[in-house]
Amino acid sequence: MKYRSTTGTAPEVTLEEAVVKGLAPDRGLYMPLSIPQLPAEFFDRLPGMELADIAAEVARALFGEDVDREALESLTRDAMNFPIPLVRVNDRIWSLELFHGPTLAFKDVGARFMARLLGYFNRNNSDRTVNVLVATSGDTGSAVANGFLGVDGVRVFVLYPKGKVSPIQESQFTTLGRNIVALEVDGNFDDCQALVKSAFLDPELNEAMMLTSANSINVARFLPQMFYYFHAWAQLAASGADMSNVVVCVPSGNFGNITAGLIAQRMGLPIKRFIAANNANDIFYQYLQTGVYSPRASVQTIANAMDVGDPSNFARVLDLYGHDHGRVCDHVSGCTYTDAQISETLRDTLAQTGYQLDPHGAVAYRALQEYLRPGETGIFLETAHPAKFKETVEAITGHDVRIPEKLADFMRGTKQSVPIPADFDSFRQFLLKT
Ligand SMILES: *Cc1c(COP(=O)(O)O)cnc(C)c1O
Repeated sequence: MKYRSTTGTAPEVTLEEAVVKGLAPDRGLYMPLSIPQLPAEFFDRLPGMELADIAAEVARALFGEDVDREALESLTRDAMNFPIPLVRVNDRIWSLELFHGPTLAFKDVGARFMARLLGYFNRNNSDRTVNVLVATSGDTGSAVANGFLGVDGVRVFVLYPKGKVSPIQESQFTTLGRNIVALEVDGNFDDCQALVKSAFLDPELNEAMMLTSANSINVARFLPQMFYYFHAWAQLAASGADMSNVVVCVPSGNFGNITAGLIAQRMGLPIKRFIAANNANDIFYQYLQTGVYSPRASVQTIANAMDVGDPSNFARVLDLYGHDHGRVCDHVSGCTYTDAQISETLRDTLAQTGYQLDPHGAVAYRALQEYLRPGETGIFLETAHPAKFKETVEAITGHDVRIPEKLADFMRGTKQSVPIPADFDSFRQFLLKT
């Protein structure tokens, strides 16, 4: 399968080139040239299937032309080695718990898959080192660092803002060592992101070293996320639910997660419609209302992994629907909630159902409660474990949030990070001499 840029001027590339480059040279995002259709027979079998088997079949449809069959099967199974259960919250809303991976957030899926795929592409290039640069406000850095830990031929540089990442999150990428370098930037998240962007645009740096990104602009990170949409559908069908009107709600920031769902639907998954749930950063919601896309500076909220003012995967959403606002609206609706509404939902849901949401899942759960029509069944993506936002969640509910053992293990490690100023020249010198 070839990949083309959403901007349309860069040449088509192979999967390997798309993964190693990250962003297309014309600044567009790579998309598969065509989206494969899964046969009706697959959907007949789906209700009884296990996650790893589903992932292996979907991966073959997407990547089968580019990766040796056995290698693809084994790297996919290895990436998907933790459960993603669908848990019933009330009579018609189910939570897809994406937080049972090594860093307790959904980004583990894409990060683990991308790391293994890059490892596969490196197998014949023992002298090649791919340098992954990632700016993080928390979750991305931990998932990417853990996903790539120990992968041959790959080094990861995690840039994070000093003092602005919770101690739990910081411990997940600063205690690893080996091929993971944590850079503590004296600045904010935007400064970290700017340093990474400048590095990708710097000719001398790109001449000296292979640089790639591991955020959801990378096809190897966002495409595997479609595995669990099929798995969610399979679990709901196996429960005996009415499958004719299934609505999926995704708490969205950069829109990589929901875009994977939209592509799964295009491959044949019978989802009736999607809801993109936003916090106060409602750029996509405003686009749906007006047809005008106006990116703006993000504002800080308690669902901070969704504090995005210019969602990078918006280009892919537009591309999927031929830049037709009406068609986008036919497939996706939107909503936006304030911190007060998110807190209220977290508190009330715990009191009424016993289910402990995290702030991101709370945005999506509320959207389903408000927008499910009669006869519809809703699935929302619970994108992180509430313990990752322990202080926030405890302050809202007044109840303790237990820290899972996996998370506690990170916190016992020793922090290793390199302090750098928020200045591109220092960052550039640092990279050149490592
Ligand atoms: C990254 C993240 C999101 C947003 O996902 P996108 O793919 O950027 O839309 C939502 N919730 C959590 C917990 C996240 O870490």
